[in-house]
Amino acid sequence: TQKRKKKVKIGVPMLSVQPKGKQKGCAGCNRKIKDRYLLKALDKYWHEDCLKCACCDCRLGEVGSTLYTKANLILCRRDYLRLFGTTGNCAACSKLIPAFEMVMRARDNVYHLDCFACQLCNQRFCVGDKFFLKNNMILCQMDYEEGQLNGSFETQVQ
Ligand SMILES: [Zn+2]
Ligand SMILES: [Zn+2]
Ligand SMILES: [Zn+2]
Ligand SMILES: [Zn+2]
Repeated sequence: TQKRKKKVKIGVPMLSVQPKGKQKGCAGCNRKIKDRYLLKALDKYWHEDCLKCACCDCRLGEVGSTLYTKANLILCRRDYLRLFGTTGNCAACSKLIPAFEMVMRARDNVYHLDCFACQLCNQRFCVGDKFFLKNNMILCQMDYEEGQLNGSFETQVQ
């Protein structure tokens, strides 16, 4: 029963020359744009300085930058990912990990802090403890060595 994902509008700002004739109003400051160049993003016009991230105030009008909108906020990619993004799925419980949560990493896998334990005996690891990744399972040293002796691990083809 996963929540349905809300659609995120992603826009790429475009610098364009002010069309002759009627001056456009800026969607940021509501003043007329008198500059020669203006930005067009999300079907609105902006001063080059007015199109900014709502979180960090960085300018979004730079060439090649992408802006993200959600809940009426305009955000840069970094802040969007920080607020609404996800780090990935936890390799142990396979639930999504929100981007702002602390995670443990092992090779390409990410884990919730609470999920990062030996998957055979549930031992948690402290800083400096050795852990092993075998058949995509996290193992403590004891279980790893026992498995090696019993030959219960298939050899991984890299
Ligand atoms: Zn403006
Ligand atoms: Zn930002
Ligand atoms: Zn987890
Ligand atoms: Zn163990």
